[in-house]
This record gives sequence, structure tokens and C-alpha cells, in this order.
Amino acid sequence: MPTFTIDGKKIDAKDGTTVLQAALANGIFIPHYCWHPLLSISGNCRICLVEIEGRPKLEVSCNLAVAEGMVVRTNSDVVVAARKDVMEFLLINHPLDCPICDQAGECLLQDYHFKYSKRGSRFKEEKVHKAKVVDIGPNVKMDQERCILCSRCVRFCAEIAKDSELTIAQRGDSCYVTTAPGKRLENPYSLNTVDVCPVGALTSKDFRFKKRVWFLKQVPSVCPHCSNGCPIWIEYEDGVIYRWRPRSEDVIREKYIAPSQMGITNFLCDEGRLSYKEWQLASRIFEPLVSSEEGFKNIGAIEALRLVKNAIANSAETVGVISAQSSCEEADAFIKFFKSVYRTKREPKAASEDDIIIKRDKNPNANYLKSLNIENLPADVTGDVLVIVDTLPEDDMMKVVNFKWKLVVQLTHDRSLIVPGADIVLPLATFTEKEGTLVNHAGVRQSFSKVFEPKGGTRNLVEWVELLKK
Ligand code: SF4
Ligand code: SF4
Repeated sequence: MPTFTIDGKKIDAKDGTTVLQAALANGIFIPHYCWHPLLSISGNCRICLVEIEGRPKLEVSCNLAVAEGMVVRTNSDVVVAARKDVMEFLLINHPLDCPICDQAGECLLQDYHFKYSKRGSRFKEEKVHKAKVVDIGPNVKMDQERCILCSRCVRFCAEIAKDSELTIAQRGDSCYVTTAPGKRLENPYSLNTVDVCPVGALTSKDFRFKKRVWFLKQVPSVCPHCSNGCPIWIEYEDGVIYRWRPRSEDVIREKYIAPSQMGITNFLCDEGRLSYKEWQLASRIFEPLVSSEEGFKNIGAIEALRLVKNAIANSAETVGVISAQSSCEEADAFIKFFKSVYRTKREPKAASEDDIIIKRDKNPNANYLKSLNIENLPADVTGDVLVIVDTLPEDDMMKVVNFKWKLVVQLTHDRSLIVPGADIVLPLATFTEKEGTLVNHAGVRQSFSKVFEPKGGTRNLVEWVELLKK
């Protein structure tokens, strides 16, 4: 374990740690563009130069292992001057179109310019022009002029998504990032290239020009789209969700990333990241519904609860079906109230899966229901009253639709999924309108926070169960 000195501070570092990692882990920030905690080292951007006592030249701290007795200076006059020069070189051909750039507000070129440079350009010649608004894949647009050729996006595709869809073409100041011959940026993780890009060269088609980032508020949550349960930030403003981004405090601690760069510290699949739209559907149910000859019509909560409570009170056998979409707290409340409870889960027909992070199980809490020893819905299920939480996949639907229940109650947030034969529908708060915990595929219990208050007459499952108890 080498002991070295950085800016006058003595530090014990792990063997093999780089100067940049050791500095970040000890609260000393060294600016960096091309270095990323989850990618291989490239060392091309040169902004992380530091001075090493006894060595004639400045060295890049991202690719320099700490050695016993090493003395490092991160803010000496020569380092400060070199950073200004690096910034000037990086900006020589940059279009400086910040006012119309979607990255403004979270751009490391802007941030480092104000923090480390503030030097005006001395470049009088014509800048090198490159392609703008290039459609490189279904989810991402590219602006080649804004790119600083840090190669994070290229390394992300090759090392994490395991598909070398991006490459750097040409030489010198003609270099540009492009898709490899015959390829598009269409791997299932393509939007992470937008996160890892430190500038506005790669932008998300879904998010670009929708909202300036400084208006967004953030709430910590967990992606509920599969059993991997990736930590996310939900970013919203004025009752509308605009994007989900990755979050991981563990990675920040272990991989030495500065809190200012939270959000680029782990990865999400595109499918999960864009699934935020499911929680803003136009087919949302806001009030209790009752089935009638003319279809479903609104009834007040008092009348809906009266009908359900009466039916349960007069039923010899009430069957509850809890969904693996529910939180642990909702499942606990449900199984305490209903004696006979089975489990179900969403099972899309063409469920994606890979050996990176995407899980075939598209439910965030199946592991918790399993741990409670709740059985799957049997083929011969019978009873008087059936209470379904969320919806049923086709197999489970077949088990219940042909039986003559006295009353079928469904708790759901979405009108388009209402099961055939439902008599009463109680509107559920969506995932973003409740808080709780979920147990992912690896048994890790994680909490998620409420973003919005439940809308209209919607409530979470715990609240509906409490009302049924009264
Ligand atoms: S597009 Fe962004 S991430 Fe890719 S090389 Fe250019 S600056 Fe780096
Ligand atoms: S891997 Fe699963 S949990 Fe992670 S972002 Fe994708 S869908 Fe969400």
C-alpha cells in the first residue's frame, strides 16, 4: 500500500490506484473528460495533467499509478497554466453554440471553462466544420462539431454494450466520431452514450429540446421495468417526468467519482430508461369504475368500497391475487388482509434479456413475493370474490375468466388493461405516486421515493386495504 503526498496531504492508497482515483477518493478534484470510472483508461484529453516532484514534464493523472513517496501537485502554477492551454486547444474548433445546445447546464466544457480557464479564444482562422444533427441510431443524434474526441462513447459501446457500433474516423483535426461501416448505434444501451458524453455531441432524441436541465428536479428511485432494479434519478418539472437517468452511490464511493458527476455512474438499458412513459399514459384511471351495460362508468369511492366490502363480508372464499409489480409494503398489507393470496406477474410475450443487466423477468418485486412463499395462481382456482392487483398475463387470465365469480374487483392504474369480467375497478396510484421498497433479482432491497401526490381518486394499495378494513 503506497503512501504518497498530494497537495501537501499524505495519503495511503491501494496498490495499482491511479493518482486521479486516489485524489477523487480523498476529496481532491482533478478535472477529467476522457476518464470514466467504469471504462478503460484512454488518456487522450490531457485535462487531468498534474505535476510530479522530480519529473521534468507534467503527467496525466488518470494513467499514472501512485508510487511510494510520490509527491503530486494538482494546482501548482505550471498545472494551472497547462489546463488553460488544454482548454484552449479543446475549444479551438468547437462551435460554441451553447445557447442552442441541449447539454448547456450539464456540460463539462462549460463548467471547466468557467472553473479553470475563462480565457478568450485567440484563434482567428476558420474553424474546421463537421456534420451536425446526424441521425446515428433510433435514440441518439450526433453533432460532430461539438465532440472533443474523448472516445468515452466508443469505449462504452465496445466495453459495456459489447458492440463496437461507434468508431473514430480520419486523422488530426479532421477526426470525427461516426458509426462503424454498415452499423447504426442501436444496441440496447445506446442512450448511455449520451450520459457518458461530457459535452453536447450526443443527445437523446427523446429528451432533446424538451426542457432546460436547470429546471429539472430529481427524486431517487429504482427502475421498475425489470427485476434488475437499476438505481435511477427521476427528473421532472411541473407534474411531468422528462427523463430517467442512472444513479449509484455505491459506484461513486467505490470508483472514486465526484458527486458533481452523479448520473453518469452506472448504466440503464434504453427500454427501462424510456419506460417512464408508462407512468404518464392517457389511459390512466382516476376514479373508481363499475361495470354496466354501457361499459365502465364512474362511481364514487364510498359506493365502490361499500359494494366491495359487502361482497367480501358475504363471501365464503375471497381470493386475492397480488402482482410482482407491487412494493413490499403493499404486498405485506394485502396478504395480511386476504387469507387466500396467490401471486402473478407481468409477462410480455417478447421479453428482452441479456447477460449484461437486462432481466427477462419484467417485474421489480418477484423475489419478495417468492420469499413470502406465496404460490402462483393455480389452474383450478375458485371462490366467491376475486381481488386482482395490477393485471394478469394471458395464462393467469385463462385460469380466472371462465369461472363464475360473484364479484371481480381489480386495482389498477390503466384502463387499457382491465381484465375481462371485472365488476369494480379501484384506481391505483402509479409507481411515481408512491414510496416503498423493492427486492431485486439478487435479493437487494432498495427504496424508491414518491415524485408526485396521487392524482384524482387514486390511492396506493396500502391505503385501499386500510379503507377495506374499516
Ligand atoms: S461524442 Fe462525446 S463521448 Fe463520444 S468522443 Fe465525442 S465528446 Fe467523447
Ligand atoms: S436493466 Fe432492468 S432495471 Fe435496469 S434499466 Fe433496464 S429495465 Fe430497468
